[in-house]
Amino acid sequence: MIGIYGGTFDPVHFGHLRTALELKSLFKLTEVRLIPCANPPHRAVPLTPPLMRLQMLQLALANRQGLVADACELARTGPSYTIDTLRELRAEQGDTPMLLFMGMDAFAGLALWHQWQHLFDYAHIVVITRPGFKMPLDLPFFDQRLAINAEVLPTIPNGKLFFQSVTQLDISATAIRLLIARREDPHFLLPDSVIDFILQHKLYKTEQAAIAAEQI
Ligand code: ATP
Repeated sequence: MIGIYGGTFDPVHFGHLRTALELKSLFKLTEVRLIPCANPPHRAVPLTPPLMRLQMLQLALANRQGLVADACELARTGPSYTIDTLRELRAEQGDTPMLLFMGMDAFAGLALWHQWQHLFDYAHIVVITRPGFKMPLDLPFFDQRLAINAEVLPTIPNGKLFFQSVTQLDISATAIRLLIARREDPHFLLPDSVIDFILQHKLYKTEQAAIAAEQI
């Protein structure tokens, strides 16, 4: 069973990395693919080009077995739809069960995603929650899909919905961009190798980045 963890990763930080590692261990995954979104359909275009966001992810995951930066969305043009990514991965993975991870915020807006009902044709969806989270009881569309127990997930390739809590680190890429734009120190929020890359390429330091960060 593999996991799929998408995001803008602008930049990747310990909130993402710790979550990916915990999910890999909790579900006994052979690997978690971390997939930078090239052209997000549902949010402003990230200031950092997709290739640089991928490079930061690769630095963060260097020598970390089982956590893999996947560039598949950079190879496509147009909006980066998750359904297209799942189709590609399904073609590559055969019948291997696949878990598509998403935060509660993303799940709340799922109905706006391109061909969202068909996501279940390719993967299970695992919604990442905070510890203590109580599952909503009014999920009519999902009644048939809801798995109460994680043990069912490896037994079929796709089609189930599961809620999983992980340790939450209160870190966001927005806050990191803001820190850097204000010339403050981002250490201990993200890997040193990623900070070195940011400094080397002068990311998030421009007036544009500062203005964008201040508007949050
Ligand atoms: P931004 O602040 O730019 O919106 P972000 O820090 O939320 O960025 P994204 O790349 O947008 O990061 O998120 C990718 C995925 O990681 C999403 O599913 C999001 O819910 C999740 N995520 C983001 N921050 C954390 C965190 N601190 N802990 C756990 N998951 C996180």
